[in-house]
Amino acid sequence: MTSEEVLDIYRQTGALLNGHFLLSSGLHSSQYLQSALVLQQPDTATRLCAALATHFKELRIEAVIAPALGGVFVSHETARALGVRALFAERVAGELALRRGFTIKPGERVLVVEDVITTGKSTKETIAVVNQAGGVVVAAGSLVDRSNGKADIGVLYKSLVMLDVPAYTPENCPLCKTGSVPVKPGSRGLK
Ligand SMILES: [Zn+2]
Repeated sequence: MTSEEVLDIYRQTGALLNGHFLLSSGLHSSQYLQSALVLQQPDTATRLCAALATHFKELRIEAVIAPALGGVFVSHETARALGVRALFAERVAGELALRRGFTIKPGERVLVVEDVITTGKSTKETIAVVNQAGGVVVAAGSLVDRSNGKADIGVLYKSLVMLDVPAYTPENCPLCKTGSVPVKPGSRGLK
């Protein structure tokens, strides 16, 4: 699946939004990707994640994990493609943690996934959760990389699409300078 095909799916489902957005990183941007609108179609979710999984087929992955909520379906469908368990980490008092009886065996080879990476913060927090549980994070992936390859994840990292969407600090945001007020489409707390 080419990046243009993936972006077309985002466009067709109205998941590529144009406006003035406050990203979870605190930066402002004129574009936002609402992956939930893409993933609401189970067949599409299966297809996208199968394409993502092709990058990791040879890595003897034993479990996939994502930060909730945004990454849950990506974890589930990528795990389906790899024939392994699908886990998720969720925030407890602001910190990502394994709950619901999920366990990772010491030395278990884990893939960390997300829908969209902007700064890579949630992915790095999820990697820390796996490390703390004794697992080995072999690689990470996301459907979309909004950092255009600039996010430093610290492990092998693959995405289906790399996007170079300018993001600005509030002081330097050209949209704010026109008097527009940014909207927050999905906060870190909600993800
Ligand atoms: Zn702004």
